[in-house]
Amino acid sequence: MTHLLNADLHCHSVVSDGTLTPEALAERAHAHGVELWALTDHDEVGGLHRARAAAHANGMRYLTGVEISVTFLNQTVHIVGLGFDADNDTLREGLRRTRGGRKERAMEMSDGLAKVGIHGAYAGALQYVGNPELISRTHFARHLVETGVCKDTHEVFRKYLTEGKPGYVPHRWALLKDAVQWITQAGGVAVVAHPARYKFTPNEEFALFTEFKGHGGQAVEVVTGSHSAAEFVTYAQTAQEFGLAASRGSDFHSPDESHTELGSLPPLPAGLTPVWDLLGPRIQ
Ligand code: AMP
Ligand code: MN
Ligand code: MN
Ligand code: MN
Repeated sequence: MTHLLNADLHCHSVVSDGTLTPEALAERAHAHGVELWALTDHDEVGGLHRARAAAHANGMRYLTGVEISVTFLNQTVHIVGLGFDADNDTLREGLRRTRGGRKERAMEMSDGLAKVGIHGAYAGALQYVGNPELISRTHFARHLVETGVCKDTHEVFRKYLTEGKPGYVPHRWALLKDAVQWITQAGGVAVVAHPARYKFTPNEEFALFTEFKGHGGQAVEVVTGSHSAAEFVTYAQTAQEFGLAASRGSDFHSPDESHTELGSLPPLPAGLTPVWDLLGPRIQ
């Protein structure tokens, strides 16, 4: 298939930290011209049966998807999985373990916020949670905006939820090796999500891609809502250097918060292997 295909292979529903249902996302994706769609909730495949039905109801082709939280060199890295068997037991068990600990982390985040005078944040954040196993920083951010502590979610992250700030709690997510293997042994392709977002040195980034590839990873997000136009070019080069296929996805979370609309990014640059070319038989 062509690199010009309108594929959106990264977005979130209420099953993790998005605000739309899988059905509403599928409709919105279709309305914005998406031809091939994947829902990639954080650490959770619970929305995928609904997503597939909704994709087909809107005439879109569909891939299974997930975005796994990984800790690599003391940073959180996200690995997207595409085209796997969503009923695979090893994958599901790995995701279940990755979700575990979010509740305790959230309670510690709330304690940290209480120390700077923001009380009841855990209960507040819970009001925005669609899936009790998937309480995330995003839900805290929505609560702090709603209660007037900050003007938008970006301000909440900047002031309260990132490293060194009162509501930040370091957390150990999955190992890179495990996340890649859960995806690949379930028949899918592992993708490094939004690489420009990480604060790695050039050597550390080289280590990330080298190890990722060594474990069986096959693709990198080149065109994502988290990258600038210059970063599309940088990571197109990375894809070529490491022999990785290229993916495209908005990382859409919410009509009110996301600046990148579903299906509205530029196409993949020419000369790369689109990740969907690796996934032909897995497209539903
Ligand atoms: P968690 O998995 O609980 O650590 O939450 C991570 C989520 O927070 C990401 O998937 C994004 O949706 C969101 N996020 C991270 N950084 C920011 C930011 N600076 N502004 C808004 N949302 C962010
Ligand atoms: Mn998110
Ligand atoms: Mn991410
Ligand atoms: Mn995402």
